[in-house]
Amino acid sequence: MTAAETPPRTETRFEPQATVSPGLFLLVLNAGALAAGAGAVGFFLRMRDANVAPYTTEVLAFAALLMGVATFLAAARGTPIRVGPAGIAFEKDELVRVPWYGVESITLEGDAIRVRGKPVYGAPINELCRIQVHQAALAAMLAEVAVRMPSVSTPDVASRVGAPVAGAGSVLALEAVHVTGRRCAATNKPIAFEADGVVCPRCERVYSRVASAPRCACGATLS
Ligand SMILES: [Zn+2]
Repeated sequence: MTAAETPPRTETRFEPQATVSPGLFLLVLNAGALAAGAGAVGFFLRMRDANVAPYTTEVLAFAALLMGVATFLAAARGTPIRVGPAGIAFEKDELVRVPWYGVESITLEGDAIRVRGKPVYGAPINELCRIQVHQAALAAMLAEVAVRMPSVSTPDVASRVGAPVAGAGSVLALEAVHVTGRRCAATNKPIAFEADGVVCPRCERVYSRVASAPRCACGATLS
């Protein structure tokens, strides 16, 4: 297959299923903003005349309470998750991507799935994903894990989450894998040029073409 015939590299993005009404979240957020605004006006009025706006402190405390509730509701909603050839990505403040070879365990904890692994860069992740909120993403993730990292796959988790839903999520373009500057998974030596690297088609470990064995650590054939 030539480069022109290579299909575009994509991943699927799954929004969390809302367990909190978006209307309720906006209502609390807007009420908190209004209370904060009223409290701020009261604060400045009291700087001029201490006898006016006597409930300013209470209004500001109420605003802080509403903002705290809004923050809790936003956290309960969960973060979008992406699944594709590059691994699993969690849309936190920044995108945290764990390649398939970095996935260490996927375990069942009550009504949630715990994902542990190491991103290419940064600290290890330890994510608890509620099945009710992330069913579609978890189902897609487990289907990929069964093929790409069967040592991590467990039947009890897959049966609890259920089968992937065709057409779920939105498709996003992924950049091609760049190997320049990455370290060879076999020798740990940096790879100087793109042409010197080979990428495992299953788990996306990268190897130096010079040093690479015929097979990746995951068992896939390197070409
Ligand atoms: Zn591999």
